[in-house]
Amino acid sequence: MANDVALLLIALLPPIVGNLILISTDQWLLSQIGCYLYYVGIDWSVIVVLRFSCLYCSVPYIGTKWRIIANAIIAIDIVQLLLNPLTGHAFTTVQTLVDGAAYYALVPLTGQVVHRIIAYGIFFVALGIVAYKTFTASRLYIERYLVLLLCMLVCCIWETYYIFSGAPIDRSMISFGVYGLLVYYLVLYYRPMRLLDRMLARIVEDMNAAVFFFDVNVKCIYCNSYARDLIGVEEDEELPDDVGDLIGRSIGGWGGRFTEDWKKRAKFAYGNKERYLDISSQQVYDDRKRRVGACLSVRDITVEQEKLAHENYMATHDTLTGLYNQHHLYERIREVLDKNNDVDYKVVGIDIKDFKIVNDIFDKEFGDQVLRVVADELREHCLPGTVYGRLTGDKFGLLAPVEDFSEEEMEILLTEQPYGERVANYPIVVHMGVYEVTDRDIDVSVMFDRAFMAITSIKNDLNTHVATYDEGMRQDLIWNQKISQQLDRAMAAGQIKPYLQPMVNVAGKVEGAEVLVRWIHPDEGFLSPARFIPVFENNGMIAQLDSFMWECACQILRDWKDRGIDMFLSVNISPKDFYFIDVNGTIRRLVNKYGIDPGKLRLEITETAMMTDIENRLRIIEGLREDGFLVEMDDFGSGYSSLNMLKDIPVDVLKIDMMFLYKTKDQSKAETILQTIINLSGQLGIPSITEGVETADQLDMLVNMGCRLFQGYYFAKPMPIDEFEARYRVA
Ligand code: C2E
Ligand code: CA
Ligand code: CA
Repeated sequence: MANDVALLLIALLPPIVGNLILISTDQWLLSQIGCYLYYVGIDWSVIVVLRFSCLYCSVPYIGTKWRIIANAIIAIDIVQLLLNPLTGHAFTTVQTLVDGAAYYALVPLTGQVVHRIIAYGIFFVALGIVAYKTFTASRLYIERYLVLLLCMLVCCIWETYYIFSGAPIDRSMISFGVYGLLVYYLVLYYRPMRLLDRMLARIVEDMNAAVFFFDVNVKCIYCNSYARDLIGVEEDEELPDDVGDLIGRSIGGWGGRFTEDWKKRAKFAYGNKERYLDISSQQVYDDRKRRVGACLSVRDITVEQEKLAHENYMATHDTLTGLYNQHHLYERIREVLDKNNDVDYKVVGIDIKDFKIVNDIFDKEFGDQVLRVVADELREHCLPGTVYGRLTGDKFGLLAPVEDFSEEEMEILLTEQPYGERVANYPIVVHMGVYEVTDRDIDVSVMFDRAFMAITSIKNDLNTHVATYDEGMRQDLIWNQKISQQLDRAMAAGQIKPYLQPMVNVAGKVEGAEVLVRWIHPDEGFLSPARFIPVFENNGMIAQLDSFMWECACQILRDWKDRGIDMFLSVNISPKDFYFIDVNGTIRRLVNKYGIDPGKLRLEITETAMMTDIENRLRIIEGLREDGFLVEMDDFGSGYSSLNMLKDIPVDVLKIDMMFLYKTKDQSKAETILQTIINLSGQLGIPSITEGVETADQLDMLVNMGCRLFQGYYFAKPMPIDEFEARYRVA
């Protein structure tokens, strides 16, 4: 648009200059030049005025036939004017004296009349376009057109007056000048303020807050509909003078800060409720930094705030128990540790023993209830300085000042099983591991790792509930990781060896042997399975090791079969194997691979293997027996053994652990139990083996009790295969 304005201003110049020349010269030639400049200039300016008016009023013109027609008419007029020196049909000039000054006055002829009709005609079209726009545009824009229209009318009237007055000087050129300046202003500088008002009001209306504008005397000059709601003034009502007081009355405790910048997000008494409001009062200044008014906005953020609080709660709390979740607990613990450098703390990990079994035996809802009970206990017993939460699954954690947490007291408390009575009389056993925070810089998660590491040391201990971390445990863990990484290579390198311990019958004949693993470690030396079996049972690698041992047993049996040696081998199956591999499939494949008689491979399964997932395990055992394997129940009498179980579990042989006898003081009672077990197995038709036989007396006793097969140091300790073969002359 700026270019169009420039064009217009330039186009207005020639007639003005031409007119100036006319009135200022007494020379004929110059006055002729002024004359033609004036007439041709008028033609050019009206056509440019028409073009500009169309652009200004957004009326299509450029590129239309109307423009071609208008240009053609003007071109014809210019040509007929320029022919005047030859034809003299348009005008002549006469020398005149005005106020004593000589100049050449124009005398119009026919051509001049034509010129005027054309110029007026085009000008009127332009004027008509502006007039039309003035009456049809929105009221907000009217001044933009009206001012221009009025100015064009003045130009027109003044020019007409000049024509008919016969005045020698055309002063209407002044109005053309004014017109030019006006256009310049309207296009380039004018901003419709009322439109701006409307637009701002629109935005403020949509602001989702009550907005008030005050002048310097705290008189409200504008407010949106939320604001009207706030002070109880209807949409069409006049704003009262005491808007400030009304706001003060609506929002208790705000205090009407209209003349200072002020911002606050807090709870306010609002009506008769408590609402969370975001209030902001901002002063407005002019360019000379004088205060001219203020805006006040009041936003009700109660819902947002509640949502935020809820989200915050959800992000930091565990939904089941309502305790802090792991992430937030770690954060809080870190905060407490950082803030209280002078206080010594303990990090305690809490674990529900056999929670998986609880979940398996009962249902999930019961498991959830157990977790909630533990959470309630924490809430009830934790002192104010303690931070606690749920970590994952059945694991909880807390941080307590050293003097607020005593392992001894906790041990007594847990021994009395405070959780027991709470959930359907199920005795929930809880284990706690304690790490006294000696190194504050380590990660909170590592502190808990250490606390839980302590629990590992009492995992299978029924009488201890609380364990304290010591550096040795970490060393153990490192050792465990080391040997776990080495297992694969150790198996491949022949470091893992099967040792055989004979099973001897009453007649003293070796009927078979149990295969027991040994690790001949290059650095650690001779490793007993007690060192590494629990490690692999914990991390699941036991399945690899056992499969390897089963394969060793099959290889030996194959070798014996080829050499005509008739003895069985007994291998161990860890309860964990069932979690990680298809025990049946693996054993069956091995037997097929080596082509041996399944009856020669006995499988030792401990009672604990039957504790979980009973139906599945029963099916597995049934499957193995159908395939011809003999299943022995290992360690009978040492664990949770229940005689009742015997009738349900389809085993072929009962392997009674004699070791449990030695732990008791009352020898005669223990012997009665042993006798009962042997009798019972006899009655059920399940043959028994007694293991752990160390002395001739024991052997005598067992023989008298009716036992037929034995295993123990009395006969031999486990030994390498070649030694076994040499000793029992099986070569
Ligand atoms: P277990 O299956 O009850 O094996 C019998 C353990 O008692 C063997 O210990 C054996 O050396 C020991 N023993 C035998 N006779 C006597 C005796 O008269 N007195 C005493 N005090 N002990 C005797 P070992 O070889 O150290 O194995 C310990 C446990 O490690 C085994 O107990 C078994 O649970 C496990 N284990 C051994 N080899 C394997 C294996 O290849 N796979 C799996 N899963 N576990 C194995
Ligand atoms: Ca065994
Ligand atoms: Ca055993």
